[in-house]
Amino acid sequence: MKALVCVGPHQAHIEERPRPEPREGEVLIRMRRVGICGTDYHIFDGSQPFFTYPRLIGHELSGEIAEAPEGSGLAPGDIVTVNPYLPCGTCVACRRGRPNCCSRISVLGVHADGGMAEYMTAPLHAVIPTPGLSLDHAAMVEFLAIGAHAVRRAAIEPGARVLVTGAGPIGIGCALFARIAGAAEVTLLDRSARRLATAAEAFGFTDGVIAGPEATEQLEARTGGEMFDYLFDATGNIQAMNAGLANLAHAGTYVLVGLNRDTLSFPDPEFHKRETTLLASRNALSADFEQVVAAIRDGTIPIDRFLTHRVALAEAPAALPGLIAVQESVLKALVTI
Ligand SMILES: [Zn+2]
Ligand SMILES: [Zn+2]
Repeated sequence: MKALVCVGPHQAHIEERPRPEPREGEVLIRMRRVGICGTDYHIFDGSQPFFTYPRLIGHELSGEIAEAPEGSGLAPGDIVTVNPYLPCGTCVACRRGRPNCCSRISVLGVHADGGMAEYMTAPLHAVIPTPGLSLDHAAMVEFLAIGAHAVRRAAIEPGARVLVTGAGPIGIGCALFARIAGAAEVTLLDRSARRLATAAEAFGFTDGVIAGPEATEQLEARTGGEMFDYLFDATGNIQAMNAGLANLAHAGTYVLVGLNRDTLSFPDPEFHKRETTLLASRNALSADFEQVVAAIRDGTIPIDRFLTHRVALAEAPAALPGLIAVQESVLKALVTI
């Protein structure tokens, strides 16, 4: 079978590999669509920490069941996505029902081979059926599940004011699920006027603010000086993550969805006087995937508006540098297999 393999920084090619054989408790999936995201860009450009090459990438997955174990409830031809966050099942987080932050987690397409290939195998428990969704839609469940999980962590109170920093696909996902959770206002903050314009046109987040010297004044004006009850950082930028605290209201909740290798630092008086609730949000749970599948199926999420680029598997290695160069205008690029 054909597979897209990153063999080193800035080196990706299509490789011929043997078709994987499902072991006990696994399904074989005929892969059809794979989304490309920031993680893949970082793997390709060599800036993903703790990453080992070569790697068959791809963790935003959709395909059709080719083989499934007897009694699994899955049949050949069923359209599915895969929860790529494979937990160990026995560590302290797994025992507490939080497999998304398993201490020995293996992420398909990052720590283990992923799905940008004609076939992949996956454990039955990681397979999420997507009845009623197209192949395109099923491949866009994973990145939205990240936002759904962050909003679940935050437990937003209806009527709250929400600020999302970073208007890429993850940030827009947070904003959409915050709106679904009953937020009265959802404001996006981003350095890129282009991204804010897309978020306004495609998803109705017309209240965008450009990050920069005038941002604080504008955010204060929108909240009568009180700032925001819930703040989601989807930038992964350490300056933005540190500076974000100033945009949080007293009694507010700050959720860090983005990830950075540096050390977070806040002035403690600012953190303390707000009685800040600080949360990290990592990956997503199967329940988040299921919430996203339902939201796409019932039309709550205007899913097609995410799909801005499409490329065939054979062309994907050559297309990657170009997609990275135009990242501001890429919401979601799908590889078609
Ligand atoms: Zn991703
Ligand atoms: Zn575990």
